[in-house]
Order: sequence, then structure tokens, then C-alpha cells
Amino acid sequence: MPSFFPIIRKKYSSVVFIASRKIMIYRVCNSGTIFENPNPVKPSEEVVKMITALYVVIGTAFLLALVLALRGFIRNYVKWRGERLVTCPETEKSAGVVVNAKHAAVTAALGDRDLTLNDCTRWPERRNCGQACLAQIESAPEGCLVRNILQGWYRGKSCIYCGRKFQEIHWHDHKPALRDRKGDFLEWVQVPADQLSEVLQTHDPVCWNCFIAENFRRVHPELVTDRPQKTATWH
Ligand SMILES: [Zn+2]
Repeated sequence: MPSFFPIIRKKYSSVVFIASRKIMIYRVCNSGTIFENPNPVKPSEEVVKMITALYVVIGTAFLLALVLALRGFIRNYVKWRGERLVTCPETEKSAGVVVNAKHAAVTAALGDRDLTLNDCTRWPERRNCGQACLAQIESAPEGCLVRNILQGWYRGKSCIYCGRKFQEIHWHDHKPALRDRKGDFLEWVQVPADQLSEVLQTHDPVCWNCFIAENFRRVHPELVTDRPQKTATWH
């Protein structure tokens, strides 16, 4: 298959194609009918190289712009996704909201970032509110992220079971859990954002290993045997 390189010579009047090293001129009349030049012109090697180089430059610039735009989109999408904790301006109580990350990323890529909410714990009753809480998110986009608040809460604490101190927690790690006073577990995804403050005051931290082990013990007690830890004896 020959490769085609279209060039617009005059605005909508004629189009040149290089096909199999021949320049084909197509003229488009006002009615839209396309006329082909009956005598194709064979271009010189220099002309072919020049046009090829031109298209390589244009193609490279296009790809570079595409990669930069995609990188900006992903960076903004990651920045604005996730559940956030705000103080509702109407009730002055905590509310969990989710920013429309896709819309924020697309509008940022177009040069005019626009924040809107995708979800709120006060919806659907207050579906048409003015979304005034967006100002809080604008001023501290990272500080009000639920996952960041949870990560900060674990910092400096130790697991209630094994006593191991929590290290830096990342979003891709095995996430620790929480245990209430009755001994019931709560995973991060189960934490209601609008009740986050209350949950953090009434729960203890549990590392991922202990959460999995203790949860398994509760679900399948018949499969778990507790053996007392052996102490070394010297003869
Ligand atoms: Zn533990």
C-alpha cells in the first residue's frame, strides 16, 4: 500500500498527494466534485525528502503535545479523585464529597480548570445546592482527602494486636483497618466520610496482617488452632 501525504495548497481548492513518488493534484470545485489531474508529476528526490521531513516534524510535535496533554490529564485526575471531608456551609457539619475528577482533568487540559461535585453524603436531598464547599477543597485539596486524613491518623500509632508501629502508608499498600470498642472491624472503604472524626475517636488501629488473621479467626474459628509460644530450653 502506498503512503499518502496530503497537503492543503489553497484553502479547499486543491489537494496534493504523494503516492508512489508521484504528485497527484486533486481539484475540488464549489459543488464538491473532485477532479484528478490526468498527468501526475514525478517529484524530485529533494522534494520527497523535504516533504517527508516536514511530516516527521509535524508528527513528532503532535505526538509530543499528545503525551504532554495526557500526562497533565492523568496528574489532574489523580489529584482530584477520592472522597473528601468538608464542612457543609449550610449545616456547618461534616460532609463527605467527591469531586468530578474526570471533568476537572479535562477542563484543566483545556486551560480552564473547573471543579464540580460528583457526589455528596447530603445528596440526593441537597442535589441542587450551590456547592459552596468547593472553596474549602480549592484551598486545601490534599488536606481534606479522606485517605490523607486516615494516613495521618495512623502515623505514630501501633497496632492494637501485635504492637508494631505503623510506617508510612501508601494508597497501593495493604491498608490497615480499624477496630471499635466491641471488637468489630472497619476497613477504609467502609468508613463513612461524614462520620470520620467520630470513627477516629472511637476506634483503634489494626495492621493489615492482624486484620486478616483476626478476621479469618472470626469467620472460620474451626480452622484456627492457637498454640502457646514455645520457650527455648537448654540442656
Ligand atoms: Zn498487627
